[in-house]
Amino acid sequence: MSDLLHRQIAEMLHSAKHILAVAHIRPDGDAVGSLLGLGLSLRAAGQKVDMLLADGVPAPFRHLPGSEQVITRPCAEYDVVVVLDSSDLQRTGGVLGERQPDLNIDHHATNLRFARVNLVDPQAVATCAILAQNLPRWGFPVSGEVASALLTGILTDTIGFRTSNMSPEVLRLAADLMEAGANLPELYRAGLVQKSFEAARYWGFGLERLQREDGLIWTTLLLADRQAAAYNGNDDADLINFLSSTDGDVIVLFNEQKGGKVKVSWRARPGLDISTLALRFGGGGHPAAAGAEISGTIEEVRERVLSETRAFLAAHRH
Ligand code: 5GP
Ligand code: MN
Repeated sequence: MSDLLHRQIAEMLHSAKHILAVAHIRPDGDAVGSLLGLGLSLRAAGQKVDMLLADGVPAPFRHLPGSEQVITRPCAEYDVVVVLDSSDLQRTGGVLGERQPDLNIDHHATNLRFARVNLVDPQAVATCAILAQNLPRWGFPVSGEVASALLTGILTDTIGFRTSNMSPEVLRLAADLMEAGANLPELYRAGLVQKSFEAARYWGFGLERLQREDGLIWTTLLLADRQAAAYNGNDDADLINFLSSTDGDVIVLFNEQKGGKVKVSWRARPGLDISTLALRFGGGGHPAAAGAEISGTIEEVRERVLSETRAFLAAHRH
């Protein structure tokens, strides 16, 4: 990344009067962590910042300082809008309307570079890692609270330092965040290990329906399952990350959503790149982990996606 780009970003963030920071719907640890990490750091430097998640902060991340200040709709005129961890604008949940964002900070190779200034680093393990590296360079402080938020996103996007993109640099970055005050075991437990009773029951429905055909493994979570399990979120409670440890080449989870849509998550064994497949369905992601939100009934979407995923696997089988 060029020095010019970093000077431009530092200047934009220091001279802003009122900043809106936004991350994506069905927020994961990297969405919440990058939002709070950036927001709290800029605030500590005296900037006025609103932090927004259209779906609010999910229960597993409500222990993070600042999470109670996250809003779900814009509530002012902003001169600088920053979008985090989102490869396209639909991911914000449509909260920006026609407004073009000023800054796009992300690590997805499928990023559409929709902002005036785009800092997209597909080598980074998390958007939080980009911020941990660059906030000090831009002249913003990394307090214990900021470090806790940023380490959360690094932990969840690497599923506890075990994805294939891990490097010594990431461990050093995590060590720096621990030195700045982040409690690694506690953040690890809260963000990755701890599951509510309701989430465990919800998983049960998905596990019960697990299917396999050659190297393809898939399952479905229905709206009725959420209700039966009294699960409050609109996500899969990370079931896909558990399923990614099964022995399939590609694992797919269909998660029925309100409004006639289905959230699809793909996971692929190392060596396959399913982000291109997700992109074809209007989504995006990383080579090994990608997703899309697709309109249609659960049956329709499952048929279309399974048929394209079978074709993808057939084309990549050696
Ligand atoms: P997950 O399947 O856990 O929701 O997401 C896997 C990866 O794909 C994450 O990096 C996530 O940001 C991305 N992703 C998930 N759903 C969508 C989507 O609907 N659109 C785009 N552009 N990316 C998605
Ligand atoms: Mn991320």
